Amino acid sequence: MSSYLNLSGVNKMFGDFQALDDVNLDIERGEFVTFLGPSGSGKTTTLMIIAGFEHATKGRITIDGKPLDGLKPYQRNIGIVFQNYALFPHKTAVENVYFPLQMRGASRKEGLEKANQMLELVGLKGFSERHPKELSGGQQQRVALARALVFEPSLLLLDEPLGALDKNLREQMQIEIKRIQKRLGVTTIFVTHDQTEAMSMSDRIVVFDKGRIEQVADPLDLYHRPNTRFVAGFVGESNIMAGHVVDAAAGVAECAVFGTCRYPADARFSNGQAVNILIRPEHLKISRKAPESGEWATMTVDTIVNYGDNALVIGHSGDHPVRVRVLGADVVIIQEGEDCHISWQPDAVHIISEA
Ligand code: ATP
Repeated sequence: MSSYLNLSGVNKMFGDFQALDDVNLDIERGEFVTFLGPSGSGKTTTLMIIAGFEHATKGRITIDGKPLDGLKPYQRNIGIVFQNYALFPHKTAVENVYFPLQMRGASRKEGLEKANQMLELVGLKGFSERHPKELSGGQQQRVALARALVFEPSLLLLDEPLGALDKNLREQMQIEIKRIQKRLGVTTIFVTHDQTEAMSMSDRIVVFDKGRIEQVADPLDLYHRPNTRFVAGFVGESNIMAGHVVDAAAGVAECAVFGTCRYPADARFSNGQAVNILIRPEHLKISRKAPESGEWATMTVDTIVNYGDNALVIGHSGDHPVRVRVLGADVVIIQEGEDCHISWQPDAVHIISEA
């Protein structure tokens, strides 16, 4: 069965500059998918092509099997929310939400009734008659969300919608958007460059870099099994060491810091192959005494960054920087400038091919 939204071989040139390079993607009906990537990686361009505000230089997009070619943005039945809300300043909240229904020929009575119901769903009951300037940033963004959803779009596109909000409000809105999306079951694409936001909200994450898709995976898979060094470095904190495979059949690699590393044997690697060896900071354990068994190395502590409930211990082992995440209580065993030991479980090691 084919997917609900399909992007096939999408390329975009701006003059000589290639903004998108062979983007292929399938999204299922009802999914919440996030586009994650650094600034300029092509997230917004992809979204704008889906919405019909930009045109692909090459490639094809279908929703529910129907090609979008030649359809104007308003003919695509797609709801969009931008970072800057883009509300009509002279219209009240309910008039803003009613607007897309008015454009689609709904009667005023029915349209306003539906707009009020939508405002209630986004938590703005009682705010219908306010103008945008009489609403907070978070409330304005809820109005924008209601306006994008009121006409029951085939697809909801959210382009960094929470970028202008402070941290607490942002977290509150993340939960709200998820709740509303689930309730309505609307297929959604959310653009962000904030990896924690992507991790906490998404069914699947699409990681972009330099106009290409690096990986598509569910949040935990992306975190524990990144395909590339870029993804490992962009999603979460990591220790990434250059190494090489010594026994592919047995799943053994070697690197300067971690010495011999065992990993689940995998046919993708061959003997002698150069690889990157990844261990997340929370998978390293610090101790004063050398562990009596298992895998371990020595480390000198340079800096301890305390976050209250946890701390990041930054140091080095030989010439290589090492980062260890410890729970608050554990940090008292070690001080800056001291030598210690780090140990880990073999199955915490993830191997990434170097290419
Ligand atoms: P951000 O997180 O900063 O919004 P992004 O991943 O959404 O970044 P895009 O806005 O898709 O990135 O831009 C991708 C690349 O295409 C960038 O290098 C950008 O400068 C370029 N680009 C985007 N729009 C145009 C345009 N209209 N003309 C020329 N280049 C453009």
